[in-house]
Amino acid sequence: MKNQVKVILDYDGTLTKEEAMVDDLARLSLDTLSREILRVPRAHLEEEYEETRRLILSRPHEFGWEVRGLLASYSDEGAFILNTTTLQVMLKMNPFYARRVANLFREAEYDPVVDCTNYLFHRHTAELKPRFRQGAKEILDGLLRDERFIPLILTNSKGDKVERNLKTLGLKGVRILGDTRQYEMDPSWGRRFFHPGQGMTQILRIDQRHKVDLRRPVYYQALTREARGAEQIAVVADTLSLPGALPLVMGMRFYLLKTSYTPFWCEEFVKKHERGEVLESLSSLSVKDPCPTGIPRDGNGKGRI
Ligand SMILES: [Mg+2]
Repeated sequence: MKNQVKVILDYDGTLTKEEAMVDDLARLSLDTLSREILRVPRAHLEEEYEETRRLILSRPHEFGWEVRGLLASYSDEGAFILNTTTLQVMLKMNPFYARRVANLFREAEYDPVVDCTNYLFHRHTAELKPRFRQGAKEILDGLLRDERFIPLILTNSKGDKVERNLKTLGLKGVRILGDTRQYEMDPSWGRRFFHPGQGMTQILRIDQRHKVDLRRPVYYQALTREARGAEQIAVVADTLSLPGALPLVMGMRFYLLKTSYTPFWCEEFVKKHERGEVLESLSSLSVKDPCPTGIPRDGNGKGRI
């Protein structure tokens, strides 16, 4: 089938109501930190978590999820990201915690704190009962039935969790790109991207306070691999830095799902971008064609899902 559009949908926060699941994720993470990792009283840890969270929210642009010294995401882009950042800042700021984590995560892939928060995220999101957004099943069903589209699910979570959860919706046959590591930053990666106003760059300037580092080779390779088998790619996600910025600079369409936690700066940037669109709800997704990357247009120029 010609002119097929791969529609890559992010999982956490896009198909699911992350904002309704984050309290449980934080609770389970603090339980594990208290009992197994830091071995400190739970109540004390919770107070520190709340205090750290307040500090971050007072200046969200000064904090974020850091990997190998680069910023993978600002702290306020998503509910799960805010939880991850809060845990990372809390663990780094306390030398006793940092030592305990370094002892337990000796063989760290990134650094002990990032590995520890990844461990907590994967372990505990797998235990949470999925809460899908309204329209999630219908959107996926519609894409699966329409031969113009190939839906794919993109996630930093493990693919088996996502597969299990999708089954509860009665959905089968959606390919999952699991563990895509949009947060895998590599300061030594030399690839640059063209931006009409910013020239060849590795850092996408958003506004005076925000910029997105594009040095994400693992995610870039995943998108490149998928692009080979499709006429066009559209990415749909609830956050900008992790899943959204790279597709935009690579010439793909990006649909930002607006949620209760979406920061104004993300919404404004995507709204103004020629290949960006902000969705007020998941159900309002309508993949447009053509894309300015030279994709052949179909009859009506717009494929309603
Ligand atoms: Mg997400």
